[in-house]
Amino acid sequence: MSVLVYTENWDGSFKKLSCELISFAVKLAEEMQTDVAALSIGNVEAEELEKLGQYGVKRILTAQNGELSQFDPQTYAKAITQVADKEQASLIVMADNNTGKALAPRLSVRMKAAVASGVSHMPDTLSPFVIKTKTFSGNAFAVTELPTDVKILTIAQNSFDLKKNPAEVTVEDAGIDTSGLRPKAAVKEVEKQTDKLLLTDAEIVVSAGRGMKTPENWGPIEELASLLNGATACSRPVSDEGWRPHEEHTGQTGKIIAPNVYFAIGISGATQHLAGVSGSKYIIAINNDKEAPIFDAAQYGIVGDASRILPRLVDALKKAKSA
Ligand SMILES: Cc1cc2nc3c(=O)[nH]c(=O)nc-3n(C[C@H](O)[C@H](O)[C@H](O)COP(=O)(O)OP(=O)(O)OC[C@H]3O[C@@H](n4cnc5c(N)ncnc54)[C@H](O)[C@@H]3O)c2cc1C
Repeated sequence: MSVLVYTENWDGSFKKLSCELISFAVKLAEEMQTDVAALSIGNVEAEELEKLGQYGVKRILTAQNGELSQFDPQTYAKAITQVADKEQASLIVMADNNTGKALAPRLSVRMKAAVASGVSHMPDTLSPFVIKTKTFSGNAFAVTELPTDVKILTIAQNSFDLKKNPAEVTVEDAGIDTSGLRPKAAVKEVEKQTDKLLLTDAEIVVSAGRGMKTPENWGPIEELASLLNGATACSRPVSDEGWRPHEEHTGQTGKIIAPNVYFAIGISGATQHLAGVSGSKYIIAINNDKEAPIFDAAQYGIVGDASRILPRLVDALKKAKSA
């Protein structure tokens, strides 16, 4: 019986999300009085792998095999099953993002394991294993019991604080037998349509709504996003009007994101909008109506005219960056 965490790297680096998974799994393993190991698939330098040890994991299993160089849900599910079997893992922890959503059901079938998707709290009880997950766009919790021997948890982003708990790390080869792991399809080449950061990958998102008045006013929004290495987003009416592309629209009918920081500028904060962004760690609102509902959801707010505040914010950031 042990806990296995599947960590994801992006071009060889771990984002905060993977550290959240480790923090959660280490705490859970403590409660279960068992061990925890992290699995990393793909090329990640030793120094980067050791960063995971900052959050308390002592064993890191790596698989840098060529067959696993591209993410393929079927192949990865087979590989993770091998490692989970070898480790006798009774709990497998991964992110509740596109990758986790592709892997968890496949692993569930392979391992006859129940899945709890979008876990937001530590378990209520370990035996029986009962845990809360987010449901109804994060507006309610489902109390879920997992009766199987092996259990899979996908963790909702920003639900667990990072807990520094430095540990001496050993990095081992995961020992995956890749003989039966040839992906059925291989991506030959990716032609990017844009070099812009994907909204779902961004840790900082600068989003704007109808309060910006016209599409010509988006310059400072783009500039702010670029200064913060973030992505741009918008409310639905903005994309419906054709002011911004549809892939930027967040909310119930758009993208559901959980960045560390979400700027909501000239956005009223309708429930349908919040359904897509309420998982953000911090919401910073700029709105000229102090009664706007967005201020109830925001941790920080500025009441005022965005057309006056944005240029000053952009200037202040430029100065801070060049200092
Ligand atoms: C079934 C359904 C699904 C929906 N799905 C979505 C969805 O996925 N995503 C989504 O976003 N919406 C969705 N909506 C629409 C949603 O209900 C709201 O109408 C929408 O979110 C409002 O967008 P907004 O905040 O940009 O515009 P508004 O509601 O018009 O708000 C504009 C805000 O800007 C402020 N403002 C005005 N001028 C300034 C200024 N100079 N400086 C600063 N602030 C200013 C105003 O005070 C106001 O709060 C959905 C609606 C329905 C019925």
